[in-house]
Amino acid sequence: MSKVTDNIRGLLARIEKKALTCGRDPSTVRLVAVTKQVSTEEIREAFGAGQVIFGENYAQDLRDKSQALGDLPIEWHFIGHLQKNKAKYVVSTARCVQTIDGIEIATALSEQYKKRVGETSQKLECLIEVNAGGELSKSGVSPDDVPALAESVSKIENLKLTGLMSIPPFYNDPEKSRPHFRAMKDLLDRLNAEGKINSKLTELSMGMSGDFEVAIEEGATLLRIGTAIFGERI
Ligand SMILES: *Cc1c(COP(=O)(O)O)cnc(C)c1O
Repeated sequence: MSKVTDNIRGLLARIEKKALTCGRDPSTVRLVAVTKQVSTEEIREAFGAGQVIFGENYAQDLRDKSQALGDLPIEWHFIGHLQKNKAKYVVSTARCVQTIDGIEIATALSEQYKKRVGETSQKLECLIEVNAGGELSKSGVSPDDVPALAESVSKIENLKLTGLMSIPPFYNDPEKSRPHFRAMKDLLDRLNAEGKINSKLTELSMGMSGDFEVAIEEGATLLRIGTAIFGERI
């Protein structure tokens, strides 16, 4: 068995075990395999091991990789910082854009998505990226600005806001991520309780190779994992 296949099987087993030990239905915790700097051969191998959801950080790479892998029914998520002029590359393949950080990018995605699909009831799923650690070097909106942005985004046609995404500051100790994860869950619960968004928000994208088990304990529904599947990036 090759390394990628082995890693995916091991990860899925750990995810299921952790979900069960904290009383969650394992089907509510989905693995997003992160493909930045990963070749199409490795992605194909991961798909062969049963992995269906992949997340890419770069718009042109998403376009190129999804074309090269067009024969596979992959569910692509976009997880990088997105500029308006790149929205067109993303809407042609992504099921979900996890990194909405302002109304302008949401509007650009809506327009491009409509151009692509025409008049259908199909919608592009979106998550708002929250800068939970308040780090200036990271994109995302501050937690205080999330309610207003969520309300606006939920009204944009062709988009379906489904939840929140966050990258906490990097720590060597996964326990240090816990307060950030917990704050994200509280924010999601508050948005749902306030009732200003026309649909229920269910997704929390948080947890990476080093801290995904803590993220599961704190309510993550989408884990974005690269290194633990494909190895260290150089
Ligand atoms: C690279 C990346 C990940 C995966 O991180 P690993 O530590 O390699 O698992 C998750 N989310 C985003 C946005 C990333 O850029």
